[in-house]
Amino acid sequence: MSLGSIAVVGASLAGLRAVEMLRSDGFDGRLTLVGAEPHLPYDRPPLSKQVLRGDWQPDRIALRRGDWDDLALDLRLGRRATALDLGARKLELDDGSTLDWDGLLIATGASPRWLPGTRGLAGVHVLRTLDDALALRADLEGTPGRVAVVGAGFIGAEVAATCRERGLEVSLVEPLSRPMERGLDPEIGALMAQVHRDHGVDLRLGTGVESLEGTSRVESLKLSDGTTLAADVVVIGIGVAPETGWLETSGLALGDGVICDQTCATAVPGVVAAGDVARWTHPVFGQSLRVEHWTNAVEQGVAAAKRLLAGASSGEPFASVPLFWSDQYDCRLQYAGIGGFDGERRVVHGSLEERRFVCLYEKDGRLHGALALNQARRMIAYRRMIGERASFTDALAHAESSG
Ligand code: FAD
Ligand code: NAP
Repeated sequence: MSLGSIAVVGASLAGLRAVEMLRSDGFDGRLTLVGAEPHLPYDRPPLSKQVLRGDWQPDRIALRRGDWDDLALDLRLGRRATALDLGARKLELDDGSTLDWDGLLIATGASPRWLPGTRGLAGVHVLRTLDDALALRADLEGTPGRVAVVGAGFIGAEVAATCRERGLEVSLVEPLSRPMERGLDPEIGALMAQVHRDHGVDLRLGTGVESLEGTSRVESLKLSDGTTLAADVVVIGIGVAPETGWLETSGLALGDGVICDQTCATAVPGVVAAGDVARWTHPVFGQSLRVEHWTNAVEQGVAAAKRLLAGASSGEPFASVPLFWSDQYDCRLQYAGIGGFDGERRVVHGSLEERRFVCLYEKDGRLHGALALNQARRMIAYRRMIGERASFTDALAHAESSG
């Protein structure tokens, strides 16, 4: 099938990197980029950090510095795709228009979950978009000072840190026993809990939220341990759901994301997916994964674009090793690999006491994961070794020889 036109849905990180790759790989047909937000693609990580702190204005987070005309795009911003017709190869948009395509790249990301019944109550926020960040920042500027953060995952831990840096009183409520419990091994989770306590966060672990109270605006939270927590602003960070609602009637295989093979291709020829919305079978780990981190969106956006251009010839398996970073106070936490912390673990380079170290994780005799706290430059080698299925012994030897 020759591709005369390609539509990319989702004008953010994966979508932008995809259109850039399509043009740099020589695709010269009609290229449409559809995005529900009214803004040109921007970077999300600073939203919970520099933007929320008030250090950066929105112009600092533009994702493309180059000339937009070079991409020769049919750019449809502020337009949401509402349905997909795979037989006719058409997209429906929320202004009633339709768009034909020969190739389709789905990069619609994910959207935050709300606590039931809390949407619309003044003072209650989620954080995903630039508009969310500016609304939360404005509310923090006007608040008497008590912030309750619900969920101690990435958003919760980063927002709690930023709010403390703004001098606000912060409570962090989490039903699990440690912050970022699913993404970190228990000892590192406990260390990060201590980091937050040292910075004055009131950590409420092992308790959920029953309800939010308030008439014209939120005033308090009723917790499942029976206590009441006063708050002027509440930030909900209880995870996201992949943006697949618009695909539900299309017949495309969905299941906590758009289901893809090892090469980011769906079962429908000429349809691929990338970023937070894509679920694919990882060729190294042999597991179905959906990864909600920045590096994956960049690398998978590029890989899915190449897959589209490869057409019927089989594409390359997408073998990128998941990697995230999270900045909280003066700590930069990074993890490469997928979860699973039941094998041997070894702290190499530094120590937990110094809050500067690398910890390596073993599974079936291989290097399975690597975590760094304030040791960024060391991660490149360990991430590469995880992808190469290096033995744990070789990883320890590398640690020994690199000092
Ligand atoms: P998204 O960035 O979610 O973009 C999808 C786009 O598609 C959105 O603009 C959306 O409006 C649009 N869209 C959705 N549905 C439709 C539709 N039907 N039609 C048209 N458009 C649609 N990761 C890290 O590794 N490190 C960090 O420090 C970090 N910090 C973060 C901080 C915040 C506040 C947030 C929210 C995320 C952070 N992440 C971080 C995660 C990272 O930003 C995401 O993994 C990344 O943005 C995913 O990119 P994406 O392009 O797949 O999806
Ligand atoms: P997350 O990392 O999945 O964490 C959500 C946390 O909230 C989990 O600990 C979850 O516990 C908990 N939770 C779920 N339901 C709850 C409830 N009813 N009450 C209280 N807590 C509850 O998601 P997130 O922090 O909301 O982040 C949203 C997205 O942004 C994710 O895609 C994330 O990867 C991305 N992000 C990434 C970074 C980074 O990589 N540095 C930074 C910010 C945001 P359970 O696990 O038990 O459900």
